[in-house]
Amino acid sequence: MNRSPLFETFARAPLAFERGEGVWAITTDGRRMLDFSGGVAVNALGHAHPQLVEALKAQAEKLWHVSNLFQIPEQEALAAKLVGATFADKVFFCNSGAEAVECAIKTARRYQFVSGHPERVRIITFSGAFHGRTLATLAATGNPKYLEGFGPAAGGFDQVPLGDKKALEAAIGPETAAIMVEPIQGEGGVRLVEGQFLRDVRALCDEHGLLLIFDEVQTGIGRTGRLFGYQWSGVAPDIMSSAKGIGGGFPFGACLATDEAAKGMTPGTHGSTFGGNPLAMAVGNTVFDIIMADGFLEEVQRKSLYLKQRLASVVDSHPDSVGEIRGEGMLIGVRCIVPAGDVIAATRDQDLMCVAAGENVVRLLPPLNVTEAEIDEGVKRFDAALTAIEAAKAAGS
Ligand SMILES: *Cc1c(COP(=O)(O)O)cnc(C)c1O
Repeated sequence: MNRSPLFETFARAPLAFERGEGVWAITTDGRRMLDFSGGVAVNALGHAHPQLVEALKAQAEKLWHVSNLFQIPEQEALAAKLVGATFADKVFFCNSGAEAVECAIKTARRYQFVSGHPERVRIITFSGAFHGRTLATLAATGNPKYLEGFGPAAGGFDQVPLGDKKALEAAIGPETAAIMVEPIQGEGGVRLVEGQFLRDVRALCDEHGLLLIFDEVQTGIGRTGRLFGYQWSGVAPDIMSSAKGIGGGFPFGACLATDEAAKGMTPGTHGSTFGGNPLAMAVGNTVFDIIMADGFLEEVQRKSLYLKQRLASVVDSHPDSVGEIRGEGMLIGVRCIVPAGDVIAATRDQDLMCVAAGENVVRLLPPLNVTEAEIDEGVKRFDAALTAIEAAKAAGS
């Protein structure tokens, strides 16, 4: 493994894949794995969805890239759809989640700058957050483990405990520009943020002239059973980042904002060479249309309930291995009592893929169009993995 020509930044599982079909991922040596990892909440519609394949192929034969020096009608189309379905008036397209968050940070600071408050540059974030790996989004993430050795953390970020209104109020100062929060912390362990806390944050922003940023890179595009996670709470942000599922596996991201919040983002203030190129937009428009088709999100909600009910019975029969079930839609976390890494390894032995998260949680991220039969199969394999862990433990002690 050490002879890999790649950076050693990832602890990769010893599996390589050749192709995928829906919820199945097939390894180079022919193993059919049930993919409840979803490429970390990216494959909203599973692998090789025929409509996405067709959209990408058709675009590939027409036009790949022209840059944002020119009009890109497919961008206008997807932006209009996103605006029509959310709080937002405007969209900026980029290439990743971290870039979407960067754009959100810049948009908030520019808003304060053009509103006569150039001193307001600081952004408040929350413990357990994950906002990306660029220098600014790392500083926003605030995790010392990720920051170590990379020199001075980008300035202008303050972090408070999640859900702590008093600490949040105390952290707001004359230099505060915005508050940024994930409606559900995905990487942090599928930690739900209470609706009441989001309402409190919104009220504090309004009271102090701050902008509210929701980082919905993971929770957006149907992942929680609504188009965006914030729509469960009824609290709308001023700025929002999106990525992961937005391209169904084609990499791109978006920053959404109200007209007011985006008023500082005038020509020349921000840019991207690749952002929103025709290939990305062809797929993004198709993903959006499928997810927003009549009844699709209701089905996600129904199947989410089914998955949670099935998992609850697994938890009942393995009380020494797993505990609480968390999350919404197809962003489900199972808090483990045994090490989550052991559970992930054991599920892999059952040809099931899932993802670790903070707080010793295992994330299940099936595609939004997963069937009940596939959920049954996934839960069966999860159950078998726990049984195997317990058997190994019994044999060893
Ligand atoms: C994954 C994630 C990011 C970073 O996205 P990248 O595409 O990896 O840069 C940012 N915020 C949240 C909430 C995420 O889950």
